[in-house]
Amino acid sequence: MTVESSVRHMEVGLGMGKNPTLICAPIMADTVNQMVELMHKAKFKGADIVEVRLDHMKSLDPRPDIEMLIRECPLPTLFTYRPIWEGGEYNGDEISRFDALQLAMELGADHIDIELKAAHEFMNHIRGNKPEKCKLIVSSHNYEYTPSAEELGNLVARIQAAGADIVKFATTANDITDVARVLQITVHSQVPIIAMVMGERGIMSRLLCPKFGAYLTFGTLEEGKVSAPGQPTIDELISLYNFRSINTDTKVFGIIGKPVSHSKSPKLYNRAFKEAGVNGVFVHLLVDDVKKFFETYSSPDFFGFSCTIPHKEVALACCDEVDPVAKSIGAVNCLIRRPNGKLFGCNTDYIGAISSIEIGLQDGASQIGSPLAGKLFVVIGAGGAGKALAYGAKEKGARVVIANRSYDRARDLAELVGGQALTLAELNSFHPETGMILANTTSIGMQPNVEETPISKEALRYYELVFDAIYTPKITRLLREAQEAGSKIVTGVEMFIGQAYEQYERFTGLPAPKQLFRDIMADY
Ligand code: NAP
Repeated sequence: MTVESSVRHMEVGLGMGKNPTLICAPIMADTVNQMVELMHKAKFKGADIVEVRLDHMKSLDPRPDIEMLIRECPLPTLFTYRPIWEGGEYNGDEISRFDALQLAMELGADHIDIELKAAHEFMNHIRGNKPEKCKLIVSSHNYEYTPSAEELGNLVARIQAAGADIVKFATTANDITDVARVLQITVHSQVPIIAMVMGERGIMSRLLCPKFGAYLTFGTLEEGKVSAPGQPTIDELISLYNFRSINTDTKVFGIIGKPVSHSKSPKLYNRAFKEAGVNGVFVHLLVDDVKKFFETYSSPDFFGFSCTIPHKEVALACCDEVDPVAKSIGAVNCLIRRPNGKLFGCNTDYIGAISSIEIGLQDGASQIGSPLAGKLFVVIGAGGAGKALAYGAKEKGARVVIANRSYDRARDLAELVGGQALTLAELNSFHPETGMILANTTSIGMQPNVEETPISKEALRYYELVFDAIYTPKITRLLREAQEAGSKIVTGVEMFIGQAYEQYERFTGLPAPKQLFRDIMADY
């Protein structure tokens, strides 16, 4: 995207002031009393404003209920009475709905929301009698897709023409690049704007909106209790994403993957950014088409990316410049957008994994050279992580064997590192010697499929050490059974921490806060 920023390099110590974008907590409950309780909870959690979803109440006695909601609310209010035809719960007549919203305005609501489709009728209904204090949000929701930039521009014009003080539209992301059009509209809007892209592929729109000047974002009280798909919690916004510190100059970092929501990277980097005063935010990026992603988000504002399953090899092909080791491995897991717009890729996986396995093998006695030298090193998987492990083991003087679901890929990788290829089926009976090293680099056994394992427990007794790249869960079935079979184990958390040190230093030019990373990951 072409959103411009005057900052072309990482800045330290900036962005710590509070941006003006509000955090709005949607309040949905059956009764007025429950609503009031949730309003106080929203304030306690750090919301700036609450959206009172009148349509979620079991029954509404407009005057006393709205009076009490306004009187008892500890925060500014936004009243929404969303009809079924716009994705809400209200199923009654329009006159009663308009009357309730008008009453809310008269009783002191700070904002009311009216749908674009009903705005003309509503304006006629209130005959222009809107208290000065109350801001009118005119909203439009598209639950299917995100229209073109031109169509979005026309939509905003129609919303403004309908009399909006604040423009609101929410669309649906079918691809993460849909968000770029919405951020573009946000940054250029002449009027206050709330612009969201719903769904997991649109989450970035909800987190980065202060950078682009949006009026508010929605943050839920609890996980899963959303009023629209993809909403983060208030806790996540404030504590995980440092939402208050995001400003125009904030650099965007993220992990590209599919699936990606399991990744702990945002927790690690955002905490480290906060402690070091780095003006950056790190988000999950659910990407389907890597090439399209990098073509769309080509501004240096989108500065650094981690890359995970299944994109590491395709990502390499998107780079203008590739580190020679990553080129040999054939996969990148860390990408940086240079100030001149060129994309640089490197691989920090192999350092993280190999060093943690070496540490796992060391028995305290000082040793010359790598403890991997001369060992038979079996890698399961031939994707990005598999290639990194195979390359790293070969570099350390191990004899490498590759077993993979797609045998052709195992054979290609084996040829590359001068090793032997196996099918997954051959793995259980492959034990030419004892004291071997096993490294799983597939997603077999990863959440939610935690009962899966790539090799029988019986076969594990031939291995001195078993490593699993998976880190959710930390102890996979493979590692549990390896322990029971008497092998040493090294978890994917160790690899994750090792590769993250290296990435952090490349992203920021600062030394990685190693103890902080270890402390954060100790909880997993
Ligand atoms: P990738 O490039 O997509 O490669 C995936 C590999 O897993 C391929 O060899 C694939 O076999 C195999 N595979 C996938 N699903 C399978 C299944 N159901 N049965 C058998 N084999 C299967 O992914 P990656 O980036 O290398 O990541 C692989 C794993 O390592 C992931 O679980 C990831 O979370 C983990 N990882 C962890 C760290 C860390 O820091 N701890 C770092 C990187 C990766 P085919 O060739 O037949 O498709």
